[in-house]
Amino acid sequence: MAKKKIVLTFPPERVEQPITYHLVKDYDLIINIMRAEVHEEETGLIVLELEGPENKIDEGIAYLKNQDVGVQEAARDIALNEDDCISCGACTAVCRPRALHLNPDTFELEFDKDRCILCGLCVRACPLKLIEVKF
Ligand code: SF4
Ligand code: SF4
Repeated sequence: MAKKKIVLTFPPERVEQPITYHLVKDYDLIINIMRAEVHEEETGLIVLELEGPENKIDEGIAYLKNQDVGVQEAARDIALNEDDCISCGACTAVCRPRALHLNPDTFELEFDKDRCILCGLCVRACPLKLIEVKF
């Protein structure tokens, strides 16, 4: 049995459809939903772990992509070198769950690791390469 942690982005027209149910029913996958959010513009985001035979995981992911669901592999961990951070805010612009944000009083970067969905988008956004993810 293999395991894969992925980040799914649902367009508004897919948010209310039972897409994850099909992963269980049609692909015999065990799913563990780690985070689920619906954003203001009504897109949805789910971080989940899939468990099952590797070929079933691949088929399930192909099914998701066919349904116009964005699929991104999630990192296992994230590390931020806060000492060298210049609080430019570039990483905050791509961080949808607001795990990274600038404190409005001090203008310093704050990182709330509990909100992080491990999407890894901040890694490329940082001009100083201060953020690392481990897959
Ligand atoms: S990986 Fe980076 S961009 Fe993604 S949620 Fe975590 S802190 Fe935000
Ligand atoms: S992009 Fe890099 S330097 Fe800028 S605030 Fe984020 S971590 Fe700090």
